[in-house]
Amino acid sequence: MQKIAILGSTGSIGTNALDVVSRFPGKFKVSYLSANSNIKLLAQQIKRFKPKAVCVGSGNVNGARVYRGEQGLRRIVKDMPVDVLVVGIVGSSALLPILAALPNIKRLALANKEALVMAGDIIMKKAKRNKVGILPVDSEHSAIFQCMAKDNAQEIKNIYLTGSGGPLLRTPMKNFKNITPHQAINHPRWKMGKKISVDSATMMNKGLEVIEAHHLFGLGVDRIKVVIHPETVVHSMVEFVDGSTLAQMATCDMRTPIQYALTYPSRVASPVKGVKFSELGALNFSQPDFKRFPCLEIAYDAAKKGKTYPCVLNASNEMAVTEFLKGHIRFTDIARVIEKVQGLHKAVKNATLNEILEIDKWARCKTEEILGAYNN
Ligand code: MG
Repeated sequence: MQKIAILGSTGSIGTNALDVVSRFPGKFKVSYLSANSNIKLLAQQIKRFKPKAVCVGSGNVNGARVYRGEQGLRRIVKDMPVDVLVVGIVGSSALLPILAALPNIKRLALANKEALVMAGDIIMKKAKRNKVGILPVDSEHSAIFQCMAKDNAQEIKNIYLTGSGGPLLRTPMKNFKNITPHQAINHPRWKMGKKISVDSATMMNKGLEVIEAHHLFGLGVDRIKVVIHPETVVHSMVEFVDGSTLAQMATCDMRTPIQYALTYPSRVASPVKGVKFSELGALNFSQPDFKRFPCLEIAYDAAKKGKTYPCVLNASNEMAVTEFLKGHIRFTDIARVIEKVQGLHKAVKNATLNEILEIDKWARCKTEEILGAYNN
């Protein structure tokens, strides 16, 4: 019996993870859950999965020991060692809980990409020191992990991250400045949280995934390519030095990468239907257009420069997306402000955690300052 815990249990990753866990009652026992504000759903999860403890952002629940807020999250991961920790919370708030958890877990099933973008070197080193296996849950990275199959980085020529192109792939670019939050979060393939949906519309999501892949697989950024693949059947590909390319294909269902992260190295039966090739028709692949998706180019640039540029990229993106969702800035302002803040940053090499947290704070202040000018 493996002890499992889920951070972000009421979000799309968390609910899918619990769906997977519920099919293996003899294999996993839920130790703790965390949720931000969806107390109603958390209460149902407590009743069903009987965790010993929960952490909540706000509100009150019964039936388990309750921790609160960001500090509570760091406490709970320290107080309660588990075999598998699923991190399904979005954004930079995952960083400190992940670092606090590493000495207390055996496996990290990681859906959050922002923490790796901010402090990938620190996380990967600490995971190695503590002999924690990091299993990617992000569908593209799970695909690459599955295609790699063994520790064979020297046999890999390139990896290809596929992206659907999001809801604005065919929208005339002259309309971009008037894109509403509702249009931006209307993803054609995946049902996800608001932040990652906006990131998909700008393709910043794919840019963050390039940096995520760089850390997870130890590959140089120049060997990580992005291709637009609107059908989203191929979740990513690995090209080997002998000219062979392996692709992982599956229907769009997060339970597939989640389950693999939990049961690896075994594959176990699942209710998720396989790809129906005879009904597919054509699969299309094309080069992303940086004019249409300036955020992708900015992210690539930050990834290539390395140091603390990705940390600043993530902070200003989080702020800009929040302001866009509130209706305070235009869709096209997101890329503009991120680029400006990148230009103002004085990067630090081999930054410590404290330096990273300081730079994250600086980037948020700068972004706010520049956004303030847009608001007026
Ligand atoms: Mg992804």
